[in-house]
Amino acid sequence: MKVFVIGIGLIGGSMALDIKTHYENATIFGIDANENHLDEAIKLGIIDQKATMTDVINADLVIVSVPVDIALVILPAVLDAIGENTLVFDVGSTKLPICEAITNHPKRRQFIASHPIAGTEFSGPSAAIKGLFQDKTNIICEVEKTTFKLQEIGMKVFKKLGMRIRYMDPKSHDKHIAYVSHLSHISSFMLGKTVVEKEKDERDIFDMAGSGFESTVRLAKSSPAMWTPIFKQNKKHVVKSLEEYILNLTKFKNLLENENYEAVFNEMQNTNRIKEILK
Ligand code: NAP
Repeated sequence: MKVFVIGIGLIGGSMALDIKTHYENATIFGIDANENHLDEAIKLGIIDQKATMTDVINADLVIVSVPVDIALVILPAVLDAIGENTLVFDVGSTKLPICEAITNHPKRRQFIASHPIAGTEFSGPSAAIKGLFQDKTNIICEVEKTTFKLQEIGMKVFKKLGMRIRYMDPKSHDKHIAYVSHLSHISSFMLGKTVVEKEKDERDIFDMAGSGFESTVRLAKSSPAMWTPIFKQNKKHVVKSLEEYILNLTKFKNLLENENYEAVFNEMQNTNRIKEILK
């Protein structure tokens, strides 16, 4: 099986590692704008060979794992370049703009729009991890637009990687993901900013940083190059989620200023319900 991974970073690299483990006959070809990442991916055993877009004609499977703004340009070019039995899937964190970008492409039926809900705050091939997708959810959008035969191949790959599948329309995906992923990242970035600006002496921060601060600010280490296009593409839902979050922050501040500690207690107790949702 010839597998081409375009964008050999955290997600593409992790997929390549798992495919190598589960498909003995797989050869992994890497395509990336960053030559150093390709060299690193070969050294780390993530890919077998470097390749270019002209080689994609030979692919059985193409995984597009580049930032979402780049995906809008690369996906139609990949569909132009593939043979008639090749399956292409993406892993982008937004789904509506990506689905729209290829909606009228003559090879639309060879594409699966996917978003594996798995990752870390690190980037590049050195961040790739074996087993990253085990027991994680993969959101698939517009599955009915993919040929049945290629759907089956795609689902087999996702299953081998240990993922469970959720089907969703791209609009619902982008709306829901704004709350559970995009807002969490902004909240972490701005918490990090607030603390860093206040405590210019970094040693003080590290001396006092307990596990609460560390876990809440972890996402602030994430790549701005990956996140800016995500916020741009999902601006409408991200702004809405931010408005609701800011309202909650303002309300909490007002309760404290007014010394309404019973209400402060209740706000937190009501939110403890999250323990039942995220066990
Ligand atoms: P990453 O580690 O930064 O990897 C992306 C790779 O694509 C990098 O090597 C990057 O090179 C390369 N690239 C950039 N422009 C390119 C181009 N024009 N042609 C070919 N390669 C190019 O990012 P990632 O975290 O794996 O994210 C990849 C995709 O997965 C994104 O669409 C993201 O939304 C999605 N995703 C991410 C996560 C997560 O937690 N990170 C989770 C689920 C889905 P440079 O570094 O030099 O730009």
